[in-house]
Amino acid sequence: MADYKKPLPHPTAVTRPFWEAAKRHELQIQQCGACHAHVFYPREVCPECLSPELGWVKVSGKGTLYSYTIAQAPTHHSFTEDVPYVIAIVELAEGPHLTSNIVGCPIESLKVDMPVVASFVDVTPDITLVKFRPA
Ligand SMILES: [Zn+2]
Repeated sequence: MADYKKPLPHPTAVTRPFWEAAKRHELQIQQCGACHAHVFYPREVCPECLSPELGWVKVSGKGTLYSYTIAQAPTHHSFTEDVPYVIAIVELAEGPHLTSNIVGCPIESLKVDMPVVASFVDVTPDITLVKFRPA
């Protein structure tokens, strides 16, 4: 864990609750207090109704594989040893889409719409990444 050399997220005031939840191995996204829409990525106003009343809620971590691509060349030199790897868009059960990786699954077994579930990877003492694996 201490030798993690890949790019890391830099939590901000807006995104920090997402990263703190991930560290507890929980998936949290925002929900609008006015129209109740679930919102991801984290932001300051609801994209549906422009209300600033966004709160954080724990969600199931369940979703489906909406789309994916196979990285045959590293997108950053630090990912060289991971090639090939899966860059995926997951549609959460609550609706929002989240870009991540699919892990724990042979690439040949990937299918659009397959059920997936969040999988938490502690990469440093402060940062846990949210990836997905087959449900
Ligand atoms: Zn709203």
